[in-house]
Amino acid sequence: MEQGVFQIGPIRPPSEANSLLLRVTENCPWNKCKFCMLYKNSTFHTRPVAEVKKDIDVMAEYRDRILAHMHQGEYDMQAIRQEYLSMPTDDARICYQMVFTWLTEGDRQAIFLQDANTLVLRPEWLIEIVSYVRERFPEIQRITSYGRANTLARISQEDFKRLREAGLDRIHSGYESGSDKVLQLISKGATQEDEIIGGKKVKEAGIELSIYFMPGVGGKALSDENAIETAKVINEVNPDFVRLRTFILRTGSLMEELRDAGLYQEQRDIDKLVEIRKMLAHIDPKRAHGKLTSDHIINLLQEVTGYLDKDLSSMLEYIDTFLALPDREQKQYQLARRMGFPLDWKYLYRLQPQDQARVEEMSKNIVDEKEWEALLHRFTDRYI
Ligand code: SF4
Repeated sequence: MEQGVFQIGPIRPPSEANSLLLRVTENCPWNKCKFCMLYKNSTFHTRPVAEVKKDIDVMAEYRDRILAHMHQGEYDMQAIRQEYLSMPTDDARICYQMVFTWLTEGDRQAIFLQDANTLVLRPEWLIEIVSYVRERFPEIQRITSYGRANTLARISQEDFKRLREAGLDRIHSGYESGSDKVLQLISKGATQEDEIIGGKKVKEAGIELSIYFMPGVGGKALSDENAIETAKVINEVNPDFVRLRTFILRTGSLMEELRDAGLYQEQRDIDKLVEIRKMLAHIDPKRAHGKLTSDHIINLLQEVTGYLDKDLSSMLEYIDTFLALPDREQKQYQLARRMGFPLDWKYLYRLQPQDQARVEEMSKNIVDEKEWEALLHRFTDRYI
């Protein structure tokens, strides 16, 4: 491996945007979800533990070197720039820069283990890696990773406990749906039973569980099923976080083939919100206490967030207020949001006058439903 370099994988959950990224495996071992195009042309590999440890050493060395340039609470930026420029290669400079950004702008207490399903590693290997992170980065408070439901269900309770003791704090899992019919449709390679068994084991071990729900992914035919069965899983498992990722049919994805074959009909943008409402309406606040977050620009209403027990009625009320707006206002907000303005509908008036005029004109002039949905889709397709 090139000197002074560590691997950097392609993605992390939005909530880990400020974490240091440590690549433990490469790509996705499943790689069959029909909505996902992320790793389609890449093959999965585990990385040897010794290689990952070397990456941790390089990160720790950069951290030490950068922190050595801090005097009386201020970084000596000239010395840091010189050190950056003295790096032997561009890749080494990128790595140095990543550690610097993490130290200065990121969450200095968090590390995320990449890529798509780190939990697929043999538990003893992952334990060794997590322990080594703790040893070299004793300041770290949170180590997190992705883990697919089917993988979680196969890991023993004992191994989860050992992972927890080693220092794994949180697992993010793309459940997407709690419905077996939907999971099969999208080739998720997991069942509702996997989600419940795997999720319960994670929680039982004292590891935080953060699951992702994809409203709309079941299409028109399975919308109710998607909402109700997902709520059922959430009630059973009681995850710490439920994160919304509204489904968008990506151009070039295998979901397109399903649609073109007449096997799938995408819902209207607004109906995906109705589905979120339906899922929430089936939550049992006596059993589900975690936090629902809408931490992705792809969600129409970013403000739908809160604890599933104490904030449930206010979240429902918030959605209902939006759904009760006149069509004209709903459309204006939809368009503004899909154009990338990250605002609450109550603040539409804060748009720049020229943006306001554009939004009003387009939402008034496009009356054909298909044309309207196609327009929204053109904007959202670029987000993911
Ligand atoms: S498990 Fe995750 S990364 Fe892998 S194909 Fe499915 S969605 Fe994509």
